[in-house]
Amino acid sequence: FSKQNGRNGFSFYFEDLNIDSKRVIVLDSELRKAIENRDFTLNFQPKVSTQLNKIVGLEALVRWESEKLGSVSPAEFIPYAEETGLIIPISEIVLEKACEDLAKLRLAGYSKISIAFNVSSIHFQQQNFLESIQKILEKNNTSAQNFEIEVTERTVMNNDSDTIRKLVRLKQLGFKLSIDDFGTGYSSLSYLVRFPLDYLKIDRSFIQHIVSLDDKQAVVDAIIQMAHRLNMQVIAEGVESVQQLNILREMGCDYIQGYYYSKPVSMDGLIEFLQLWEYEHQGEIE
Ligand code: C2E
Ligand code: MG
Ligand code: MG
Ligand code: MG
Repeated sequence: FSKQNGRNGFSFYFEDLNIDSKRVIVLDSELRKAIENRDFTLNFQPKVSTQLNKIVGLEALVRWESEKLGSVSPAEFIPYAEETGLIIPISEIVLEKACEDLAKLRLAGYSKISIAFNVSSIHFQQQNFLESIQKILEKNNTSAQNFEIEVTERTVMNNDSDTIRKLVRLKQLGFKLSIDDFGTGYSSLSYLVRFPLDYLKIDRSFIQHIVSLDDKQAVVDAIIQMAHRLNMQVIAEGVESVQQLNILREMGCDYIQGYYYSKPVSMDGLIEFLQLWEYEHQGEIE
């Protein structure tokens, strides 16, 4: 990010985020309003074990319906929120909502499924990051054991003592840790050895053409072997077809996430999905 390149704030957002400058003005005020009203919801997408056909976890994905802009994709407003610092209050709202939805899930009888949430590197780098997370868990009477944290390569790129201290502390608290969008960053692999990560999520861009392209297959196969050698489990993102699923299963990929099983859905929709799944798979749910 190079703020100096822009003549002013707007031309900078304009260049880096590819948003029309008029839209940026509306986006900004709508986003601030949404934060004030806690006007975000979460959708959930199941993670399914390839060997056992078992649902082992969920990823929480933020959704925002703006009065003036309609539904805005997180792929648009999260990068903007990261640039403006609005990501911090948004992250806190997301975690609070995740706690509320977890309570719903437990009430529906699903006692072990964990919820993964995405943590922005901007939030992670905040000095009070750990405290802010712990405070929300305490307030909601829940604990880290129920959650996984997804960080991207951007977060672990700074191979420094502050990053390792925070990751080790998160592990001690009981969070499982995932590296998200693996393969899209430009960092070295040294962090994989240094940091206590549980899961590696292979980015959708590698999975997309895995059926037709041999070189994509080779890369995915190598990533899975490497992750296993490092005692990490592998999740494939964006699996849409049974052909993709079969290849990944054969390669020993541990978990699958994607439209093939389910699009991200509301907690109510998810509970229905789980009930149907239990019925069809005779109780194969954590
Ligand atoms: P991500 O964490 O890598 O999430 C996976 C994205 O892939 C989600 O997009 C999901 O809907 C989509 N997806 C899942 N399966 C499939 C599939 O089979 N096919 C296709 N085409 N797409 C699939 P979504 O929900 O639009 O989120 C986009 C990104 O926005 C996320 O990527 C994540 O980086 C960010 N994001 C979403 N929610 C949050 C949040 O609460 N906090 C933060 N910091 N970032 C978030
Ligand atoms: Mg994610
Ligand atoms: Mg991802
Ligand atoms: Mg991704």
